[in-house]
Amino acid sequence: MYHYQDITRFKNCKRLFQLMRRTREERSGYFSYYNVIKSPESSILKKLGVVSYFKGSIGDSVQVSLDALKENEWIVQARFEYRGLRIRIPILHHTDSLTEVYFTSNAPYPGTECAETFSVSVEILRQCGIVPDKVFLVFPNMQYVREDELDDDRMWIVSENFITPKGNISKSVYEVIREKQKNLDEIIDRMEKCEMEELREPVKNSYCTKREQCRFYADCFPEFKDLPDNSIMHLASSSEKEKMFRNGILYLKDIDLEKMDASRVQYAQVMADRCGGFYADHAALKHWFEGISSDPAIFLDFEWDLYLIPPYPGMKPIHPVVNQYSIHIVNGDTIEHKEYLGEGDCRRELAEALLRDIPSYGKIYAFNAKGAERIRIEELAEYFPDLAEDLLDLNKRLVDLQVPFESGVLYDVRMKGTYSLKTLTKMIDPYHSYSDLDVSEGLEAVEIHRLYEKCEDLEEKERMAKDLKEYCSMDTEELVKLYFWMESLLDSGSEVKP
Ligand code: SF4
Repeated sequence: MYHYQDITRFKNCKRLFQLMRRTREERSGYFSYYNVIKSPESSILKKLGVVSYFKGSIGDSVQVSLDALKENEWIVQARFEYRGLRIRIPILHHTDSLTEVYFTSNAPYPGTECAETFSVSVEILRQCGIVPDKVFLVFPNMQYVREDELDDDRMWIVSENFITPKGNISKSVYEVIREKQKNLDEIIDRMEKCEMEELREPVKNSYCTKREQCRFYADCFPEFKDLPDNSIMHLASSSEKEKMFRNGILYLKDIDLEKMDASRVQYAQVMADRCGGFYADHAALKHWFEGISSDPAIFLDFEWDLYLIPPYPGMKPIHPVVNQYSIHIVNGDTIEHKEYLGEGDCRRELAEALLRDIPSYGKIYAFNAKGAERIRIEELAEYFPDLAEDLLDLNKRLVDLQVPFESGVLYDVRMKGTYSLKTLTKMIDPYHSYSDLDVSEGLEAVEIHRLYEKCEDLEEKERMAKDLKEYCSMDTEELVKLYFWMESLLDSGSEVKP
């Protein structure tokens, strides 16, 4: 039995296809990226005005779906198959004179990258005797702002066209599918043959590290396993590093900077290795600190969950709700901690508590502030116009502690080409670890918060609240350490190591 993912793997890496077919592990511990307050499927069906329909299940034969189609105008999640290649059609509308397929997407602007999957599905339908007259795409309407009640009709867009990344109408879904029409027999023959063949040799391709590292990476490329901190393979944003590695240039310090157009980060990496493992551009660091140091110094971290369908008034699709923060306030020798943990629609309560807890003057430090805290504060200001001025004032005082690392002002080879807060924490404070906590990762915190909201056992709920608070508080504690570590570098020569 093949699924569409098998075709994708086969196309991208034959070895991955073979390995996945041979291991066939069940997926476990599935984590939904979006918090779902209402099933998208039922919301879409409401939009389409569908009241009565047949719903398919795992393991249904093609005959079950075909029989359902005879008795129902609408069928949902129906299974179809051709020569063992199995698909699921989200929504199918069939009358005596018309057959329509509705593909669904969570992407705000679904483009032609989905066309391959759709064309395989439509071809399998054809093989099963169903020829669609029209093909639609259903996706979230990013202009929709929820009022008190969810408006399913305005929540979704039904389009016969793909959408460009800027939100404009692109090519017809039906036409693109027709252009990409597949010869399924040829694809299935090739997959069957490949499955029987000896395991292919690994060939590095963009799929090896796309989004996240392939699960077979260490087996495919053992030469890149347990690399030293100063390995050239940690060179940031470089398409040439593997070539250099294979040509015997193994360490960052051996890179000839004259021969490459190095970015500031790459320069810092090479210099760090040449200077014993650590590099600081002291002049740049001093200049940066002059503009940002303050008393009190306020350290802020937010936690939030992301919703596909807006759960509360004023929200748009695919929007977050901040449900927690931690603040450390350092004033001379004193350090004070404030925190908030909410549930449900806690946006206003959180915004008001934030304005109370943050002193009215002093810089506010966060990590990746421009990609997170700044945007979250802007969203809160939009929800609550009466608090907007005070909230947006916080943004004027916001400083991003990630800047010296992402701009190559500071680099330590132990960063191994990355600069997440956890990497830096491990570097400056090796004995203080997130792994000592019951909640140790961002996604785990999101998952626990979802359970926390639903938990009715008070004791258990309290335990979860404690874990969530500890996790968020650890982030701001580490921000304090990071800030003072950077400040300590100002008085040191370039020889200083953390
Ligand atoms: S690491 Fe790369 S070569 Fe190896 S299986 Fe994965 S995608 Fe294929």
